[in-house]
Amino acid sequence: MANPAEDSPGGALSEANKQPRYVRRKKIHPKLAFGRYRIIKWSALIALLAFYYLIPWLRWDRGLNTPDQAILVDIPARKFYFFFIELWPQEIYYWTGLLILAAVGLFFVTSIAGRVWCGYACPQTVWTDLFIYVERLFEGDRNARIRLDKARWGIGKILRKLGKHLVWILIGIVTGGAWVFYFVDAPTLARELLAFEAPSSAYLTIAFLTATTYVMAGWAREQVCTYMCPYARFQSAMFDEDTLLVTYRDELGEPRGSHKKDASWDARGRCVDCNQCVAVCPTGIDIRDGQQLECINCALCVDACNSIMDRVGQPRGLIRYDTQRNLEARETGADTRARIIRPRTVTYAAILVVLMAIMVVSLWTRSTLEVNVLRDRNPLFTLLSDGSVRNGYTYKVLNKSHDSLSLTLRAEGIPGATLRVLGTEAEETEVMISARPDQVESFRIFVHAPLRALEGGSNDLRFLLMNSAGESIDIAGTAFVGPDK
Ligand code: SF4
Ligand code: SF4
Repeated sequence: MANPAEDSPGGALSEANKQPRYVRRKKIHPKLAFGRYRIIKWSALIALLAFYYLIPWLRWDRGLNTPDQAILVDIPARKFYFFFIELWPQEIYYWTGLLILAAVGLFFVTSIAGRVWCGYACPQTVWTDLFIYVERLFEGDRNARIRLDKARWGIGKILRKLGKHLVWILIGIVTGGAWVFYFVDAPTLARELLAFEAPSSAYLTIAFLTATTYVMAGWAREQVCTYMCPYARFQSAMFDEDTLLVTYRDELGEPRGSHKKDASWDARGRCVDCNQCVAVCPTGIDIRDGQQLECINCALCVDACNSIMDRVGQPRGLIRYDTQRNLEARETGADTRARIIRPRTVTYAAILVVLMAIMVVSLWTRSTLEVNVLRDRNPLFTLLSDGSVRNGYTYKVLNKSHDSLSLTLRAEGIPGATLRVLGTEAEETEVMISARPDQVESFRIFVHAPLRALEGGSNDLRFLLMNSAGESIDIAGTAFVGPDK
């Protein structure tokens, strides 16, 4: 029976529609590259893994009764410790600022050098690199791994595969273990984990992260970058003609073909079609086909090609970081230097500097005391038998310091106004209150004012808070309500 789509007035199906909807994954066996960019990648891997695994073990003395872990997300106490900075849940805006800073930083780097984050620093890349390193230790480099995969199952193959998977799982456990150390005192939790006395949530989190690390870095690998990561899809919006991308230089490489020693290089390109750039690529693509979504800008193909160029006695740089502007300029023989300073990068840099300045200034001037005043709504006011008016308030003091505070509270703005703290008898123009360290203290306060002192239904009232030296440390404005006049 004829395909109705082919018989439609529009004509035959387009080529795109004939493409299969599902393409079976081709297993990639990346070869080990040697060169400058591989060294940079190894250095980034060591530095980032060391940072991730060791940071929870760093100590920072904050005084008595406070955690001494330099970086700690203390969920029970609802606090985040970062060296000398302590953030409370009320200060979530610092997190927001940090996330915006990270996003703009990523845009800035991407606009200069494309997906370098993906190629060198993304956790998916770092752990995948580590897992491939382990795979190489057990199964050898690319060709040996391909042979092993094709070989029949025997004791040798079973032992190699088993060893690799066991080490992968071990890395997953250590990765999950390091993550939970960010949330509890690391030495204490490590002892509890080893003695099987840790909370079940710790074991469950480690099990979950072991599984995700094992699956993502061991099995999914480049599929995460190609199909799962949203950043891969929208990052091209940050590229322009001056963004540095790993590029194959057709004008130098083509026409390609194998080359015999001592044969002439005339009328041919430098590419000897050795396929080494494809063999080392962690995403398995051929950069000679042009820019592709899968390319993570890691430049391992640059290392591979440079080694080949050294071997065949040709200049390096057949594959290199290059910009679209350079490619076009070279055709006309114009200057081909990359431009880092341009409107896009300057805009991102300006936003970064402003955001950083705001963060630093606000952290620097951050108060260790916060006050919140809530006026009673029911009743709005009470008329007392002596002719005065009473309003009730909830006065909260958040003491973010590690010291107890003795404070004096005064009501200002209404002549003759006095205060009384619930639980005491005395009505005074000033009352003493105290705030324990790292606590929110809540006080029920009654303010009394003579009816004649009120100007109308709603009157301005200020709560003035003073420290033990009599200095004003907070003024909270609110309303005092009386009968309409
Ligand atoms: S093409 Fe080159 S830069 Fe791109 S992912 Fe492959 S090896 Fe890395
Ligand atoms: S590594 Fe260089 S020479 Fe070899 S195929 Fe790739 S581009 Fe050509």
